[in-house]
Order: sequence, then C-alpha cells, then structure tokens
Amino acid sequence: MTGQDVVPRLFGTNGVRGVVNTEAMDCRFAMRLGMAIGTFMNGAVIIGSDARTSSEMLKSACAAGMMATGCDVHDCGIVPTPTVQYAVKTDGDVSGGVVITASHNPPEFNGVKCIDRDGTEMARTNEERVEEGFRKQAFRIQPWDRVGHSVSRIDAIADYVEAILALIDRKTIQASDLRVALDCSNGAGANVTPGLLERLGVKCVTLNADLNGAFPGHNSEPTPDNARDLVELVKEGDFDLGIIHDGDADRTIFVDDKGSYMYGDRSLAVAAHYACLDNGGGLVVTTVGSSRCVEDAVAAAGGKVMYTRVGSPVVARAMMEHNAIFGGEENGGLIFPELQYCRDGAMAAARIIEIVAKHGAMSEIQSKIPAYFQFKTKTECSNDMKDIVMRELVANAHGERMDLTDGVKIYFEDGWVLVRPSGTEPIVRIFSEASSSDRATAIAQRFRDQVTQIARG
Ligand code: MG
Repeated sequence: MTGQDVVPRLFGTNGVRGVVNTEAMDCRFAMRLGMAIGTFMNGAVIIGSDARTSSEMLKSACAAGMMATGCDVHDCGIVPTPTVQYAVKTDGDVSGGVVITASHNPPEFNGVKCIDRDGTEMARTNEERVEEGFRKQAFRIQPWDRVGHSVSRIDAIADYVEAILALIDRKTIQASDLRVALDCSNGAGANVTPGLLERLGVKCVTLNADLNGAFPGHNSEPTPDNARDLVELVKEGDFDLGIIHDGDADRTIFVDDKGSYMYGDRSLAVAAHYACLDNGGGLVVTTVGSSRCVEDAVAAAGGKVMYTRVGSPVVARAMMEHNAIFGGEENGGLIFPELQYCRDGAMAAARIIEIVAKHGAMSEIQSKIPAYFQFKTKTECSNDMKDIVMRELVANAHGERMDLTDGVKIYFEDGWVLVRPSGTEPIVRIFSEASSSDRATAIAQRFRDQVTQIARG
C-alpha cells in the first residue's frame, strides 16, 4: 500500500488493533464496529475473547452493537481464537464470528477480529464491506421487538478439544510416557491446552496457566526472551518438549528436549515433513518470509512448497484453493486442514507431541533439518518512493531468480533477500537468509544501502 490510498484501512493483517480507551479502541468504537459487523453478517454470530483486562468491556460493547442490528450473539467466553473459528465452521446456523483479541501485543492493546462463515479469518473483500458500513454509519438498526439476544455457548471448548483428540494417535502418545512443560503466557490457551494435554496422556507441568490480562509472567509474544523461563524449566526438569502459546493461542512455539528454542520455521518444517511422509507427498503452503529449511524438509519427504504473500488468511485460502495438506507461517502459526483452515495453537501442540511420540526426541528430529541464518533490518522510505524503489530493485536484479509474490524476493546460490515496503509506516523492510550468519548480514546490508540510496532519489 502507498500514500495514494485515500481511505485508511480499519482492518490490518490480523483484525483491528488499538490501545484501549483511546479513540482507536474504546467501547464506543467497539459498539459502532459491532453495528457494522452485525449489519454485514445479518444472522447469529459466535463471539469469544482472550484474557485481556479490557476484553469483557469491548466484547459487551461489540455484542451490544451486533444485537442492535438484530443478530443473536453466542458467547464462548474466554477461549483461543481457533476455538471460535472451529465453533463457527461446525455450526451451520451462524453467519460468522468475532474474536476480541490483540493476540501477542502488549497488555494495553486490544482488537477485534472477524471470522467468515467457513471459520477462516475474514476475507479482505468482506472486511472492506464492514469498513464501508462503519464509515458511512449505514447500520441496519432494528425496532424493539427484533433486537438480538445473547446466549452462552458453554460447549465450545469441549467440542474443540474432542475434534483435536479425534485426529491424534493417543495410544502411541500414552505409551511414550512423555513429559511436557507448557507456558500459557497467562492467555486464553490456559482454558484449553492443559486439559487437552492431560487427555492426551502426557505428564504436563504448566507455567503462567492462570488467566491474567496484565501478563505478569511475560509479554504474550512467544519470543526467545519471553520463553526464557520455559527454556530453563525444560533444561532443568528433563522434559521431552516445551510448548508456549501467544496470548490468543493461535500460535505455538516449541523448545526441544535439549532446551533449544525452536524458531517458528523449524516447527513448521518438522510438521510439514511428517505431513508429507504420512500423505506420500503433497503440497505445503507458506509465505515468502519462511526459511529455506521448510522447503528442504518438505522435499526430503517427497512434497512441494507453494509460497504466498505474508499473512495467515492468505496462506489459509491458498491451502483451500490448492488442496494443500499443511501450511503455516514462520512465526509459529501452523494450519492443519484436517481440523480447520486457520492457525491453531492447541492442534499444533497435539500434533508435535504426536510426532515426538512416534519418531523420537525433538533434538534428533531437528538435527536432520538444515539450519540457515537470518538477518532483518529496515530503512526509511517515504510512501511515494516505495513503488520507485521496488521497480529499481527489480530492474537492477536482472538475471537472478526472482519472486514478486510479495515485495521483491531475490534468490542467490547460498541464500535470498526479501525486500518489502511496510503497509503502514514510511519504511522498507529487508530480510535475508543464508547458510552463514555473516553472509546473511552482508546480503541484508547491501540491499539496505541500495534501498536507502534509491529512496533518497
Ligand atoms: Mg495470535
């Protein structure tokens, strides 16, 4: 996106986000957005939230707006985002879903995410219709005798857990006597994953498994820094696996039995490898930002990789369209089409535990997947220079293999660079990968200099 866009977007890559009780995310905003969503969805809506301090307030306001337009609201309470998505997908009588969550953002943030009738994150074309209604305040407000009602949907978690269990080989897991350390990050995963792991028959020790919107344990993004306590616990406690969710438990990051933090593309590669082995090949979908290790692991199991633009809804829809067997993002968002077409943190935990039970220690599994080094940097670039920068890069890179799926990705013999203009800020991001750390840094710096030079005219 460039500065030519006159109307600012409401929805970003993962819904609407803002700091609570500022104009961008207060109860008036949530109610007005609820009226726009209700007008668009025009039927029953399933709603749920993460464990943030403001989630109840914003959920009530959003639900009130939807009910004003005649929608019945089915409230799941505090649940992971994929629990709402599963409820929407399996309920033939609802028009969609809403999740009040800011995922991994700091505690002062919250957000609203919309779910389409099929359980996937709302398609951009539908978001545009909600945005238009919001802007024009074109709400289908109903008379007193047609306003919607709110009912509590107490079975959402049980239904979701049963659906995961039905897809997992519990006998093998139970026979393996696995010990798992689980960090729920004080988020919504605490209402699902500890119970799921117990049903799977693993011995589980939990960290930060109480719901607390102040995130006293650590911030809710599963970065290496925030996973420090989990890594220590795994190292000291002789665990087979460490598991950590983000705040709304659509993403999961793993720690292997040696206490090594696994970056998201490592677990993506592991899950993709075994999905391909189990299926005798098949298509795996991921974004252009994923490590080469995913392609290596998939190729070793007879599968193929398809790359998409960045953003999990894009991956999910490409998976549907091309009948992929597995997909995901490099940030720990894994998508299992046998359950549903969205990132699913609890399903990821169950599947990776199953892989360890069947195939042995995660450190051993990991050691067979090549390791690459990555480097991320950025440089300033005004919005009106972004197109020029990208065109120049393409022209200068003539002769090398290129992928223009999202930004410019240029492949070299021993690595690649991905140059993407930010959709929201006057910056261009540069992301590189190579088989050595020095080489990855050198590639990124070379392109950063090049972009800076072009951007200055
Ligand atoms: Mg999330």
